[in-house]
Order: sequence, then structure tokens, then C-alpha cells
Amino acid sequence: MDFGLTEEQKALVESASRFARERLAPDYQARERAECIDRSLVVEMGALGFLGPELPERFGGLGLDCVSSGLLLEQIAHGDFNVAYVNLLTSLCGQIIASHAQADVASEWLPQILRGEKLIAIALTEPGAGSDAARLKLKAVRDGDSWRLYGEKTSISMATQADAAVVFARTGSEADGARGISAFLVPLDLPGISRTTFDDIGTRPVGRGSIFFDGAQLDNAWMLGAEGQGFVQVMQGFDYSRALIGLQCMGVARASLDESWQYTQEREAFGKPIGDFQGVSFPLAEAETYYQACRTLCLHTLWLKDQQLPHTAEAAMCKWWGPKLACEIIHQCLLTHGHGGYGGDYAFGQRYRDVLGLQIGDGTANIMKMIIARQHSAKHRI
Ligand SMILES: Cc1cc2nc3c(=O)[nH]c(=O)nc-3n(C[C@H](O)[C@H](O)[C@H](O)COP(=O)(O)OP(=O)(O)OC[C@H]3O[C@@H](n4cnc5c(N)ncnc54)[C@H](O)[C@@H]3O)c2cc1C
Repeated sequence: MDFGLTEEQKALVESASRFARERLAPDYQARERAECIDRSLVVEMGALGFLGPELPERFGGLGLDCVSSGLLLEQIAHGDFNVAYVNLLTSLCGQIIASHAQADVASEWLPQILRGEKLIAIALTEPGAGSDAARLKLKAVRDGDSWRLYGEKTSISMATQADAAVVFARTGSEADGARGISAFLVPLDLPGISRTTFDDIGTRPVGRGSIFFDGAQLDNAWMLGAEGQGFVQVMQGFDYSRALIGLQCMGVARASLDESWQYTQEREAFGKPIGDFQGVSFPLAEAETYYQACRTLCLHTLWLKDQQLPHTAEAAMCKWWGPKLACEIIHQCLLTHGHGGYGGDYAFGQRYRDVLGLQIGDGTANIMKMIIARQHSAKHRI
């Protein structure tokens, strides 16, 4: 068992950490007001090799392992949780496209996505199908050598900013269930596509909204994988994104804890630094314990993926615990800062609202616990 980082990983973490400190953290709150992620910043991240570094070099990736990609994303989230959505969506969709797109489609799109020139989204959820995603209704109808899409995707992160989306559509009948679903890479500027944004309480720079398809036409070549295999593909992809989400949330927890330890040394009450009171330091000590446990779980899950070992239950653990724990830690850190923590001079309020969304997005805690229970009870079936 080796918990050390390689020299390459240390260099990557150091360069992402510097970028997060200097280029992301200072404008985290300003980006919420701007309600978008500056494209030139994303291009800068692409040039530094920060987007999809685990993807193959032939597509513009660095061919690194998934642990390295997670370590990098964690640093980006330390500076700006919302910007880290770009890393998350690039890794999740990039992996699906690299594994399942036709060679010319992957060669056209992936290099642009990894250079930060194109933003990608994932569109699974519909008004009538969230947790029970296999019930989705968005219809793909054959039209000669192409497909036409009809229906609505909703609650899609980056809905209005993305240039393309991995879209899951029903190519079979509803009676086929999950086996009637196919995936497509869809450029979002096609005729027959329109988009709207929601007025969310958090992640406003990411933006969440609906995408409407009214006969948008797609060449058959844009299908990802085989017809009817779309659902299987997305479920495998989510095992990856769930571990990354855990680390994304731990990045924000780390930033909040670092600021809080420092504050407990600076702020005085009753003639001494508040950190001298165990009532102040013990909750932070507890938070550090949970933080270490959750972060180690996330890295172990990515390590399992790198070893091509099963990690579905572990990924679901990262996904339900990471966002919940991060919210609890941010809450504690806000309280540690007293009245100041409640104000806009600190980022705790925004961090809480931003992280909260991922207690729902990518699957709720209940659904994650169903997955864990299913995996474990299968081992003990008589
Ligand atoms: C910030 C954010 C970002 C998102 N980004 C995306 C995105 O990029 N792409 C995308 O496709 N979707 C996205 N989503 C949608 C998200 O994946 C769904 O909201 C989520 O899967 C839950 O679906 P639902 O909201 O329809 O809730 P429902 O499925 O209607 O569930 C409602 C409640 O019932 C509970 N519940 C449902 N079934 C069960 C059960 N069997 N047992 C116990 N409890 C149950 C759920 O846990 C939940 O609390 C995002 C959502 C958020 C909030």
C-alpha cells in the first residue's frame, strides 16, 4: 500500500494549486454575480493541461491516471467550486466520447473540449424522469440516415453555456426500458434546439436549465456506442464522476478549514485567541477527521478505477457523503467566524449554496444508498 504521490502528481497538484490561488479564488464571488464562467479562463486551463488530463494523448489529453485527474480537480475546486464543474463535465463526458464516439467525431470534438474551446454538458434528466432515469421519454426518431430529436431535458448544468451535450434519448419503445435508450453527441447550436436557465440558489456561474428539442436533426455518426446501449454507458460514467464530485466537495471543505484554523489564531475573546478554547477547536478537529476519511475514500475509489477493479459501491459512497460532509464543514467554519462568517466578506454562504446542489445533482443520497445496498446485499444473497 502506497499513499505517496509521484513526482509528476506533486508537480500537477502544485501547478493547479497555484492557478487556483492566483486566478480562481480572488474572483469566486464575482463570478457568482457575473453568472457565467469566463471562456478565456477555461482556455487558459486547457492550455495548462488541466482539462481531461486522464484522456488519451491522441485526443489532446495527457494520458494520466484518474487519481491524478481527481487531485487536480480538487485543487481547482479549492479556488472555485463552480469552475471545477468544467473539469468534472470534461472528464465525465470526455470519457464517454473517447470510449464510444466514432473515430472522426471524437477526433473533431475532444481536442477542442480539452483545449477549453468548447464546453460540454450531460443531458439525462427530464421533467418526468430524475432518479428513475430509465423512464426517460425524449424521443429520437429515424429520418433516413439521420435522427430527429423531440422532447425536453431539464436540470442540465451548463445548459445555456455548453456548446455540445451528451444527450440520452429513447430510440426503442418505452416498454424496452433502459435497453431502448441511446446516447448522442449533440452540438447545441443546431436548428430545432432552444434553452432556458433556472433562477437557482447556488452554482449560478454554472447555470442549470432546460434544453428543448423540436426536430433537431443529427447524422447517424453522432450516436455514441451502439443503439440501445446509452444507458449502460452513462451508468459506468457516473461511477467516475461520483468519486470526482467527492473530491470537488473536499476541495471546498479544505479551503474553509484552512481559513478557519487561521482565524482561530487571529481572533481573540476573553483575553486569548479563540483557538485556545476547546469549544472552538474540537469541532474543527472533528471536521478534519471526517475530511480525511472522505478524501481517502474518494482517492481509493479512483485508484480502484485505475486498477480496473469494481468501484460502483465506493463511488456511490463518495457521492452521498462528500457533498453532505462539505456542507456540514462549511456550516461549522461559518460559525467559527462568528457574525463575520454570515456576511458577504467571506465566501461561506456562497460555498454552502454551491455545494448543496450536488446533494441532488448526479443522483440523490437515497439513490446512492440504494446502489450501495444493492451491491452489498448481492454478495450475501442465499
Ligand atoms: C445542481 C444540480 C445539477 C444537476 N445537473 C444535472 C446535469 O448536468 N445533467 C442531468 O441530466 N441532470 C442534472 N441534475 C438533475 C439531477 O440528476 C436530478 O435532480 C436527480 O437525479 C434527482 O432527480 P429529481 O430531481 O427528478 O428527483 P426525484 O427523482 O423526483 O426524487 C425526489 C425525491 O424522492 C427521492 N426518491 C426518489 N426515488 C426514491 C427511492 N426509490 N427511494 C428513496 N427515495 C427516493 C429522492 O431521493 C428525492 O429526494 C442536476 C440537479 C442539480 C440539483
